[in-house]
Formats: sequence, structure tokens, C-alpha cells
Amino acid sequence: MASPMQNDDPGEGRFVDAPPPRLSVVAPCLDEELCIDAFFARASAACAAAVGEDYEIILVDDGSKDATWSKISALCALSGKVVGVRLSRNHGHQLAASAGLAVSRGARILLIDADLQDPPEALPEMMEIMDRGFDVVYGVRSSREGESRIKLFTAHCFYRILRIGAGVEIPRDVGDFRLMTRRVVDILDEMPERHRFLRGMVSWIGGRQAPYPYRRSPRFGGRSSYPLAKMLHFAGDAITSFSVLPLRLAMCLGLAAAVTAFAVFLYALYSKFAGEAVPGWTSVVASGAFFAGAQLFVLGVIGEYIGRLVEQQKGRPLYIIETVQTQRRAALFPRI
Ligand code: UDP
Ligand code: MG
Repeated sequence: MASPMQNDDPGEGRFVDAPPPRLSVVAPCLDEELCIDAFFARASAACAAAVGEDYEIILVDDGSKDATWSKISALCALSGKVVGVRLSRNHGHQLAASAGLAVSRGARILLIDADLQDPPEALPEMMEIMDRGFDVVYGVRSSREGESRIKLFTAHCFYRILRIGAGVEIPRDVGDFRLMTRRVVDILDEMPERHRFLRGMVSWIGGRQAPYPYRRSPRFGGRSSYPLAKMLHFAGDAITSFSVLPLRLAMCLGLAAAVTAFAVFLYALYSKFAGEAVPGWTSVVASGAFFAGAQLFVLGVIGEYIGRLVEQQKGRPLYIIETVQTQRRAALFPRI
């Protein structure tokens, strides 16, 4: 990475030059070379329809291995509205989105995927809803085309489990596609958690939030970067950062094990005094296995939370921005 000291910015860490635009569009991109140009064309047309010329489009390259960054770079050269942000490596969708939000300066901010599954054309309507005094207008997927049955089923279960466990009301079937006010994004910036589940964090912030139902389209091109393993990891982050339900369940299991252990103990005493010859070997083995299993399970759940505590405790920056590129200024940000 280049020397951090080359940054001649006023020092607030935010990208400051011209007055803030009315609207920022933030799109995280991982290996989206097939989508970037179409995304830019549709997003800039939607922005123009919503706010005229007063907008910026922030494209965050989350460590792509294909031509995504050179495409973003070319768009920066083509249009003064584009801000290209390149992360030092793949930090994951939620952190790439967080980096884009931190760089954004608009009075309102639209967070949207770069693969055109979320329609940029919804922007004018979302702006109108926000004009009625809302802090957040969040997209609700009324239908999802081109997604596998497994994905739809796991998503369905995930939102329902999360709802049981979370202390705050996190709406169902909602992604990260949303329009937010500057104030909400500033608060998000100040939330230091590493394992970020943005849609939950925005729900936690509260304020006036309105749903916007839309049809989620298939990808414009390329492949989803959320295979099952990554989705499970994401679900783990969401559940552990918004709920202590697994800890409570672990406690219930521990309690059930303790009650059973006590019953087995009473039975053992009874057998001894009733003079039964050989105490039941099977029950000893079965209860031993049960308790060992229960303890390991409970330890595992606690371990999940402790692991996250350790990661948070390290206090590392959430992501590293390598370059920020626009026509107005090419600055190096060691971090934000
Ligand atoms: N993405 C990212 N970093 C990642 C994974 C995904 O920036 O590690 C971006 C990706 O380019 C897309 C958005 O996040 O714009 C959503 O990802 P994807 O389409 O792969 O997920 P899906 O829509 O299938 O859930
Ligand atoms: Mg997608």
C-alpha cells in the first residue's frame, strides 16, 4: 500500500472538497466487471430523474480479481460524478458497503447492489416517500426472480429465526437496498462493531422507517458471491450480533441436563439401597454421553460469542481503503 502520509486532506478523514451533493449512491462491487457499466448507466439516469445533477455515485471495489477496478477507474475518468473506492483486499459485502457509506457525503444515501438485482429506477419514488418525513426507506422484496430454491428457503428461515431472537424489530425479506438520511448514515459510521449486519443496525437506530416493496430481479451478469458457507457465516453474524437467544437456549439445555442428572443420581441411590445387583451399564454410558454432548454444545455457543468479543476487542480498523479516485481529487486514505 502507498504511504499513508500522502493524504493532504483537511484531516477529518472524510472525503471533503466540493459542497455535499443531495444524493449519494453507494454500491459495493466484487467481481462485477459484467455489471458495472450497465449499473452506472441505469443508476445515473435514475439519479438525474430524482435530483438533477446534484449526486455522486460511489463504487467500492471489494478486492475484485477481475477487471472491476479498471472499469471503475475508467468511469471516474469519464464522469465527475463517480467516486471509485478500492479496498486493500476482499473485506466482505457489509464492510465494503460500510466503507462506501463512510466516504459518501450526500444529504441522502442510497445503498444498492451493483449487480442490478435492486432497481435504481425506484429512486425517485423512494425520494418522494422520504420527503414525507422518513429517515429510512427500505426495499422489501415482494418477489425474487432467478434465485435458487435453496437460497429462497434459507432466506425464508433466516428472517424468521432472526425475528424470534432479535431484541429489535428487523423487518422480514429486507436486504440492504435502502435510502437513508445523512443522520442515519452518520450514526452507522459511529457504530464500531466489526461483525456488521447493516439492515439490523439500521433497524436498531429506529426513527421513522418506511417499506418500499419491489421485485428483485435476477443478476444482470456474473455469479453471486454468496455461496452457502458465506451465507451461514452472515447468518451467524446477524444472529449473534442481534440476539443472545443461542446463549439462552444453551442455558435451557444445560438446565435440562442438570435436572436429568439429578434424576439419574436419585435413581442410582435408589438402586444402591434397593440392593439391585449390577447397576445399569447402559444408563451410565447414555447419560455420560448426553452430558458430554450438552457441555460441548454449550461451550461451543459461548465460544462463538467470546470469539466475537476477542475480534471486537482488537479494535482494528474495519477495512483498509487503498485508493479513492475521482476527477475532483485523487487522495490516499490510510483508513477512515
Ligand atoms: N459483494 C461485495 N463483497 C463481497 C460479496 C459481495 O462487495 O464479498 C457485492 C456484490 O458485488 C454485489 C453485492 O455485494 O454488488 C451483493 O452480492 P451478491 O450479488 O453476490 O449476493 P446476493 O445478491 O446473491 O445475495
Ligand atoms: Mg446479488
